Amino acid sequence: MTEPESIPAGRFSVWLQRIIAALRGGKAMDVPCRSCSACCESAYFIQIHPGERRTLEVIPGELLFPAPGLPSGHVVLGFDEKGRCPMFGPQGCSIYSRRPRTCRVYDCRIFAATGIPAGADKQLVGERAQRWQFDFTTPEDTGMYSAVRNAARFLEERAGLLPRGFVPVNTTQRAMLALSLHDVFYQEDAGGRSLEETAAAVIEAATVCRQAGAASVGE
Ligand code: SF4
Ligand code: SF4
Repeated sequence: MTEPESIPAGRFSVWLQRIIAALRGGKAMDVPCRSCSACCESAYFIQIHPGERRTLEVIPGELLFPAPGLPSGHVVLGFDEKGRCPMFGPQGCSIYSRRPRTCRVYDCRIFAATGIPAGADKQLVGERAQRWQFDFTTPEDTGMYSAVRNAARFLEERAGLLPRGFVPVNTTQRAMLALSLHDVFYQEDAGGRSLEETAAAVIEAATVCRQAGAASVGE
């Protein structure tokens, strides 16, 4: 059996800085998807912020549902019985220029970076994620990669040191959290901390990131 072709994912540290900026409200990610459309066909609920008016204008209201656990006005776009987004058509996304911000910042390289599996119900995304090949040109690339992997491992193995519900069950959210925590594990003194001190640093960093993300959403 031939191995699937690997796809260049870019320099790790450059990619990481871009996706962190995107998650905090910066520019959309420019993913070299080629002909892939796996994430539009993988049973994702797409969250849409009430401030995304240009997006909400082009999605029929009957396709939107209140987002569980979020304030009034936040909605989600669901999927059909095949797991396909209802805005996905024969030519791809039918509202591409006005697609939700969730879609603009989605990047399946998060699974390759963190080592977190995309999930049993996200097989196509998982297969694609396995093909990404990051470029590790400098010590910064390898250092940041190791920090991201350690953050993901800490979330998996030390969830008991963190508040209940802190580690998302949703694999995309968990991978994004691990990325946003890389600083905690990149610092030179990270190795000298106790597990409890690391947990406190993780909680503090996540709180800052969530506030930054919440403040940046909308149009
Ligand atoms: S699964 Fe990844 S490569 Fe495929 S369309 Fe989505 S972001 Fe692009
Ligand atoms: S809105 Fe467009 S980009 Fe987003 S999941 Fe649906 S088809 Fe894909």
